[in-house]
Amino acid sequence: MLNLVLFGPPGAGKGTQSEKLIAKYNLVHISTGDIFRAHISNQTELGKQVSQIIAEGNLVPDSITIAMLEEEIKQNPQAKGFIFDGFPRTVAQAEALDAFLIANGTAITGVVALDVTEEVLTERIAKRQEISGRADDAADKLKKRIEEYFGKTIHVLPYYEAQGKLTKVNGIGEIETIFADLSAVIDGYNA
Ligand code: AMP
Repeated sequence: MLNLVLFGPPGAGKGTQSEKLIAKYNLVHISTGDIFRAHISNQTELGKQVSQIIAEGNLVPDSITIAMLEEEIKQNPQAKGFIFDGFPRTVAQAEALDAFLIANGTAITGVVALDVTEEVLTERIAKRQEISGRADDAADKLKKRIEEYFGKTIHVLPYYEAQGKLTKVNGIGEIETIFADLSAVIDGYNA
């Protein structure tokens, strides 16, 4: 299996690149943000539980997020591999993911972190908000999300670095150039 974590702050291009990578490598895309948004729009119990947290730009508690993620993996028993997008966002989530994959006879193959400056992120998300209308892309909520990223999520990087699984890729530039760089890293796993 090819199990990839696509890592990066809000607005780094994880969603865009994931779409291209799943098509090229025949992987199942698991975006915890997308799954939460689907629960919110379907008004499920989980959706009701998390909508306020997400609207404010805070992280959903680990226990809820991990349970949801594991459920999503179990629903795809035929998968050749997964791209995890927006997960893990805390070290506890990274540890839980490792334990779950190991229990299922697999593991994370590699982690690719999209490197983007805060300036570029703010600019991109402002544009995205005009199109998507995502409430959590508004300036004050975005500030909170970037704080969550630099306060909690960034600590996931040394966790994977210690396992020798981390590669950084420049996330600024043309979508196709970034995609080619990501593909080169992934092709290296198979070599
Ligand atoms: P995203 O679309 O990945 O930016 O996620 C949107 C929002 O969903 C985040 O700001 C969090 O509130 C929540 N969320 C998504 N993934 C996670 C996660 N792995 N852990 C905690 N909260 C998450």
